[in-house]
This record gives sequence, structure tokens and C-alpha cells, in this order.
Amino acid sequence: MAKTIFEKIIARESPARFVYEDELVAAFHDINPQAPVHVLVVPKKPIPRIAEATQEDKELLGHLLLKAAEVAEKLGLKHTGYRLVINNGPDAGEAVPHLHCHILGGRRMHWPPG
Ligand code: AMP
Repeated sequence: MAKTIFEKIIARESPARFVYEDELVAAFHDINPQAPVHVLVVPKKPIPRIAEATQEDKELLGHLLLKAAEVAEKLGLKHTGYRLVINNGPDAGEAVPHLHCHILGGRRMHWPPG
């Protein structure tokens, strides 16, 4: 399987503005931001999408969400709020088949989402 763009970023084969990294996840700014703050939190394990995750990934998924909250706080969003988004499949507009959690903040979000 060809590497996804996120695997290339994690391997430092493609550039990105990192805001956090540990042995399990990496977080970097989205290249096409949809809000004043738009960061992606990505597991280093290339799970294509949440529907493909298994019981084996339970701890990793918990870590991903906890780190998303930690990164959001680091970016100054804790008190104003922020949205976490995981797009799964075509109807959700998933563009990169490597699981990632969007952190969106710095403006008022709309509901329902478009
Ligand atoms: P999704 O629609 O949930 O699959 O989102 C994929 C996201 O990855 C989009 O918001 C893109 O702007 C973002 N993206 C694609 N390529 C890059 C890149 N090279 N660096 C950072 N973000 C990227």
C-alpha cells in the first residue's frame, strides 16, 4: 500500500507544522484551515478510518482523544471551546484514508454542520 500523506508527514518525508508528537500520535496544523485554529491529531498507526479500528486499538483511540483535548488546551481553546471532528467515508467528506481527528477552534461553530 502506498503511504498516505500523513504517514509521509510523520516520517518527515513531507513538511508540516507540528504542535505535538509522542510515540503514538502526532499533531500538526491543517494545510487548508477551516477555522482560525485547525490542527489534525493523527495516530502513527495507519488505521484508514474509525470504521476500520478494532478492539486492539482501544487504548490508542483513548490516547488520541485525550491528546486532542490536551493540544486544544495548549492552543488556547479550552475556555472558548472547540470542535473535534472525525470524517468517516465519502458522505462525511473523508479525503485522507488515515484516521485523524480535526481540532477546530477560534470561531463560533455552526450546527448542524454542513
Ligand atoms: P478529511 O476530509 O477528514 O479526510 O481531512 C483531511 C484533511 O487533511 C483536510 O482538512 C486537508 O486540508 C488536510 N491535509 C491534506 N494534506 C495535508 C498536508 N500535507 N498537511 C496538512 N494537512 C493536510
